[in-house]
Amino acid sequence: IRVKGAISMANETARSIGPVILLGPPGAGKGTQAKQIVDRYGIPQISTGDLLRAHVTLGTSLGLEAKAIMARGELVPDELLYGIVADRLREADCRRGFILDGFPRTAAQAGWLDAFLEKEFFENSEMCPPVVIQLQVDYTQLLLRLTGRRSCPTCGRLYNIHFQPPRVDELCDLDGSQLTIRDDDREEVISGRLAAYEDQTKPVADYYRVKGRLVPVNADQTMAEVAAQVFGVIDGHTSDCKPAAES
Ligand code: AMP
Ligand code: ZN
Repeated sequence: IRVKGAISMANETARSIGPVILLGPPGAGKGTQAKQIVDRYGIPQISTGDLLRAHVTLGTSLGLEAKAIMARGELVPDELLYGIVADRLREADCRRGFILDGFPRTAAQAGWLDAFLEKEFFENSEMCPPVVIQLQVDYTQLLLRLTGRRSCPTCGRLYNIHFQPPRVDELCDLDGSQLTIRDDDREEVISGRLAAYEDQTKPVADYYRVKGRLVPVNADQTMAEVAAQVFGVIDGHTSDCKPAAES
């Protein structure tokens, strides 16, 4: 997939993009926008939620620790995340840049990330500094997006019963499987997740705002409209950023 993207988007995939940090409450469309950025710029999406769910599925010791916490909609302790994030960012596909989706979620994680990037990326590389895009959405919209999310257990296709419903009941259009709801998208869990977001993630936005790196984007629009704004922010940021000449 990466190779295909690199050929079709030769211009966008040759230059340094740097870290793109997507902030926003659960359901703001971080995952969806991240995929648009992957397609356009050829940099990988790193979702800590996905990394954690992979550990849960594999039944690693980290997965076992994280599973119950995630099912309750609470945040996994910072120290459990640093190892998996560091390992992922050290992979070769992250050298031109990467998208962080779901990380940092606390001010402590943001501080850890800055120290990590300083030490492992910026001292000795042509990468642009991070740009932080805050997806802003209306609370009512958010609840509909979250409670409506369904996926097909057979083919993985995503639906929303309010916004992109399947043609019949809660059955997949492609293979007729009964759609499933993610454990942490259940209504009783969602209010907990939004409360955790309010309490713990607002300080992350404040952290970046103080550093002048926070760019708000109105996410109460179609996916394409939001993506157009997001691309504008990234293009503006990377044209300002002058990577060091190769030696
Ligand atoms: P997500 O897919 O981003 O909504 O993440 C799903 C769950 O994984 C969250 O509700 C948390 O329990 C956990 N999680 C993901 N990213 C983080 C993070 N940066 N810090 C703490 N917990 C996280
Ligand atoms: Zn299906």
